[in-house]
Amino acid sequence: MKAAELLGAGSSKSKGVGTRVAEYAETGPYHCADCIHLKKGFKDANGKGRCDEPHMKRDPQVRHDQGLAIVNIEHGCCRFVKPPKKTE
Ligand code: SF4
Repeated sequence: MKAAELLGAGSSKSKGVGTRVAEYAETGPYHCADCIHLKKGFKDANGKGRCDEPHMKRDPQVRHDQGLAIVNIEHGCCRFVKPPKKTE
């Protein structure tokens, strides 16, 4: 399966951007690096990160590794992005 298929790019069944379940895409403008669901301090041999967000973990259009979603740290994002709370 090609990366574009995994991401749901161009799918006529998609109602939003990206994959159907989590709307994961790698087109910005936000990115996983700024999300609390990204496994901090981890990057695999391909430079990818891991995400523990529940929708991403069960999204069949996203690749997984040991139950966690494989994500593009710099360009990936989904509708469940959650930035860390700001401390004032
Ligand atoms: S933006 Fe979405 S895909 Fe990326 S780490 Fe956060 S929850 Fe996971």
